[in-house]
Amino acid sequence: MTTLADRASDWLSTRHDEMEAFLKHLVDIDSNSFDKAGTDAVGAAIAELLQADGITVSRVANDTYGDALRAEVPGRGANAHVLMMGHRDTVFPKGTTTTRGFSKDGTIAYGPGVADMKGGLVVNCFVLRALKAAGGADFPIVALFTADEEIGSPSGRAVIEDTARGARAVFNSEPGRVSGNVVTGRKGGTTLDIFIEGRAAHSGANHADGASAIGALAAKITKLHALTDYTAGITTNVGVIRGGMTHNTVAPSAECELDIRFVELGQLPAIMADVTAILNADDVPGTHARYTQSYTFLPLEAHMSADLFSRYAKSADDEGFAVAGEFTGGCSDAGFTAALGVPSLCGLGPVGGKAHTDQEFLKLDTLVPRARALARTIAGM
Ligand SMILES: [Zn+2]
Repeated sequence: MTTLADRASDWLSTRHDEMEAFLKHLVDIDSNSFDKAGTDAVGAAIAELLQADGITVSRVANDTYGDALRAEVPGRGANAHVLMMGHRDTVFPKGTTTTRGFSKDGTIAYGPGVADMKGGLVVNCFVLRALKAAGGADFPIVALFTADEEIGSPSGRAVIEDTARGARAVFNSEPGRVSGNVVTGRKGGTTLDIFIEGRAAHSGANHADGASAIGALAAKITKLHALTDYTAGITTNVGVIRGGMTHNTVAPSAECELDIRFVELGQLPAIMADVTAILNADDVPGTHARYTQSYTFLPLEAHMSADLFSRYAKSADDEGFAVAGEFTGGCSDAGFTAALGVPSLCGLGPVGGKAHTDQEFLKLDTLVPRARALARTIAGM
């Protein structure tokens, strides 16, 4: 008697060409996070593929960003589901594919989002198809395809949390590491846009009447950077500054973008308290600071992925490849699901690298093996 894992793995073993063709199809659709038509077009391609196999697909509509897409292979009986996740958006502007679409050189594929994470979307689609073709599991297998991860999942987060609640496991198919490893831990991160208001004055005639926003910002940046604590896994980085009017005007305004990374959920409140104190400090009398928080990603704490990783490593071994877990400072949606207490593993997509650059690549010969290992892991849950 064959097992679900073996049947799904066998189904996938002959799908390389089909997977590669679907990858090319998805890469050649522009889908910047702010391009609703584009991310929805990627969603339509996915829905068409899955529905052709009789897989149910539903949408959570959104007016601003692409709709979230939810596909499900039902289970038998009332058992907690398994969730696969992936994002359809890329960081590349609309029009990129007209000059730089999908291309390949031997077994390496190139193109915007080829690894991050259209390769992972292909894996999730084919794993779902394989598990359906193999007869399904006792538990529902759900795949969620969201549209705004690259900008912090402003609309995706709530859908992800709703869908992940009560799941037995979450598998996120962000790109596999260049080493071939999967991701067992990720930093959380948040971005603050900080604005300083000062008072303009002629720098020669009335210097004393001014209150320099640039002076205040400079003082605050030094203190904000001093919050970095490598031992604790906390970093702060002001990556962008703007401000001032002219060389002979005391700066009436200045602003910066602050990126904060941390490794444990519990660290964030204390960091935010420190940041608030720094912003409220009266560095330059007459200036005033405020901030807005744009992105927040929660960390994937390693203990939330440990059990799933050992299951995945065993499945990979059964499929003939070795894999290790890796920590990365980059954030992903897996932090949101892990923070709910749902076991989560990330970086399960095909192996690739140089994400967010025009040299982004994907190793095509990892499409089928990674899909087989993921299908096998899910089948054994
Ligand atoms: Zn990604």
